[in-house]
Amino acid sequence: MEHQPYENWILSGDPLSPSQKSDLMDHISTCSHCASIYEGIAGVEDLLKCATFESPSPGFTQRFQMMAARRKEEARRLQSYLFLGWMMLVTVVISMGYLTTLLLIQSPAEVVSNIMASTINMAFQLDSLLQLVKTWMQIIPLPITLAIIAGSAGLVVLLTSGWIFSIWKISAQGVKTNE
Ligand SMILES: [Zn+2]
Repeated sequence: MEHQPYENWILSGDPLSPSQKSDLMDHISTCSHCASIYEGIAGVEDLLKCATFESPSPGFTQRFQMMAARRKEEARRLQSYLFLGWMMLVTVVISMGYLTTLLLIQSPAEVVSNIMASTINMAFQLDSLLQLVKTWMQIIPLPITLAIIAGSAGLVVLLTSGWIFSIWKISAQGVKTNE
């Protein structure tokens, strides 16, 4: 089938005379090749009309800024995770290095006995701490001890809530300045 001049008419996008237009419609109704081109061009034109000539909705700028703020927050969180991971890595490397050094200058049996000795030592220290607490309990009457414990617990709660409140305030301010 001869597709010219219909193909050129569709692709050029030039305005057609009424007789040309009816010729084109007649051809399209019988020719699937030109019909698919025609529909494709019409679809692209529709798409361009919808996509580019619409102004952004009023909330768009605000949404975009909120998205940017959220992304910044995520970046900050990622950074702290990276820092934590880095610290853990450093800790592992240092302890590995420490163990390797110990193994180089001492035999494995000595290292194990050293570790056991320090563990036992720690247990003894914990025990003496418990003894100290016991002695304290014997010397200082229970009500005073309870009062001291309650007082320090209250202080801890007060400090913690103050800290949480200030963190919340700072983060609220941060969100406000990001808007
Ligand atoms: Zn055709």
